[in-house]
Amino acid sequence: MKVLVINCGSSSLKYQLIDMSDESVICKGNCERIGIDGSFITHKANGGEWKVETSFPTHVEAFTKVVEMMTEGEGAVIKDKSEISAIGHRIVQGAEKFSEPCLVTDEVIQAIDDLSALAPAHNKAHAMGLRSAKAVFGEEVPNVVVFDTAFHATMPPKAYMYAVPYEFYEKYAIRRYGFHGTSHKYVSKVAADYLGKKPEELKIITCHLGNGASLAAVDGGKVVDTSMGLTPLGGFMMGSRSGDLDPSVVGYISEITGIKGNELTDYLTKKAGFLGVSGISSDCRDIEVAAKEGNERAKLVLDMYFYQLQKFIGSYVAAMGGLDCVVFTAGIGENSPTVREGVCAGLGYFGIEIDKEANKKRGDIVDITAEGAKVKTLVIRTNEELMIARDTVAVVSK
Ligand code: ADP
Repeated sequence: MKVLVINCGSSSLKYQLIDMSDESVICKGNCERIGIDGSFITHKANGGEWKVETSFPTHVEAFTKVVEMMTEGEGAVIKDKSEISAIGHRIVQGAEKFSEPCLVTDEVIQAIDDLSALAPAHNKAHAMGLRSAKAVFGEEVPNVVVFDTAFHATMPPKAYMYAVPYEFYEKYAIRRYGFHGTSHKYVSKVAADYLGKKPEELKIITCHLGNGASLAAVDGGKVVDTSMGLTPLGGFMMGSRSGDLDPSVVGYISEITGIKGNELTDYLTKKAGFLGVSGISSDCRDIEVAAKEGNERAKLVLDMYFYQLQKFIGSYVAAMGGLDCVVFTAGIGENSPTVREGVCAGLGYFGIEIDKEANKKRGDIVDITAEGAKVKTLVIRTNEELMIARDTVAVVSK
C-alpha cells in the first residue's frame, strides 16, 4: 500500500510517497512559490534529485506536476497515480470539531476552511490543498486529514481553559489547543516501545524543539497539558516567536508603537524570540556560535531558553505527579547537545541527569540517560510524515 503524505502551505506543497509495507520513503519533494513568479518543484527519487522551474498559478497545477514527476522520466516511481491507495493531509487546526483523523468529504473541507479564523496562516491553504487534491486525483483515491491539534484533545478543561469570561470560550472557541500533536504522538510512542512499556504505564514529557517549539505532558499515553495555546505563538520563546507574555504587554506595545491587531501578532511571530532578543538570528546554530564567541545577548537567549524550558518541565512534573521519561526531538532537540545539556543541567532534583558523552551521539533513538538516573532521557528523531501515513492507513482500513 502506497500513501502520499501532503503538507500544503499558502505557497508551497510538500509531499512524500511512503511504501507502508516497510514504511520506506519512495520519493519526496516540494513545490515552491505557488501563485508567485519563479515557481519550481524539487523532486527526490531513485537516488537522484531534480529541480524543475514551471508555472504553478494554483495548487492544482502543483499537484498535477507532482503526479507527472512521480510517473514520468528518471524520477518516476509509479506507473500511474492509481497506484496511490490514499492521501494523508497535515492540517494545523482541528479545534474541538476534529479530535481524530478522518476521511475527507466536502463538509469536512468546508469545516476546515471555517476554522481559518483560529489558524489564519494555515487552514485556508490546507482547504485549498484538499480541493486541489480532489480535483487532480478524483474520487477514487481517499483523502484523510490528520490534525496537529488532535493528540492534545485529551487535555482536561483545567488545562485548556483561559481565565477569560466563559462566553469567549462558548462563542469564539478561545482556549488552548496545542500543536505539533503528530510529532508528540510519534515520539511518545517510540519512547514507550524503546522502554519496552505500554504508553499507559508512562509519564513522558516530549520536547519538540524546532523553529516552532512546544512541550507536551503525556500521562498514560494521553496529553494532559501542552505549552502552545490558541495559536502556535504561545508557550516558551522560539526562533522568532515570543511565546507567552503578560497580556498587557500586547496592548502597551500597541499603544506606544501604533502597531495593532494582526500586524502586532505578525511582529511577535516573526521578530521576537531568539531573533528579537539577540538581534542576530532566529537560527539556534547562529545563536550558539555567537554565544561561544562571547556575544552577551546570544548568551542571554540561551539562558532564557534553558530557564523557560526548565520551568515548563518542572510544571509538567507537577501536573502529572511524577516523571519517567523526557524526549528531545525536532531540529534543535535532535541536533543540539548544548541545548539538551543546558536544559537538563537544572533538573537533577527531578531525577533527570544526562551522560555528556552519550549526549554527543546521533541516531534515530539515542539514550542519553546518565547511569543511575531515575528518569530516562531520550533523543528521538521525529517523523510526522510517517505518523500521518499510519493514521491515514488506520482511517481507510476501517
Ligand atoms: P521547523 O520545522 O519548526 O521549521 P526544525 O525542526 O527544522 O524547524 O528546526 C530548525 C531549528 O533547528 C533551527 O533553529 C536550527 O538552528 C536548529 N538546528 C538544526 N541543526 C542544529 C544543530 N546542529 N545545532 C543546533 N541547532 C540546530
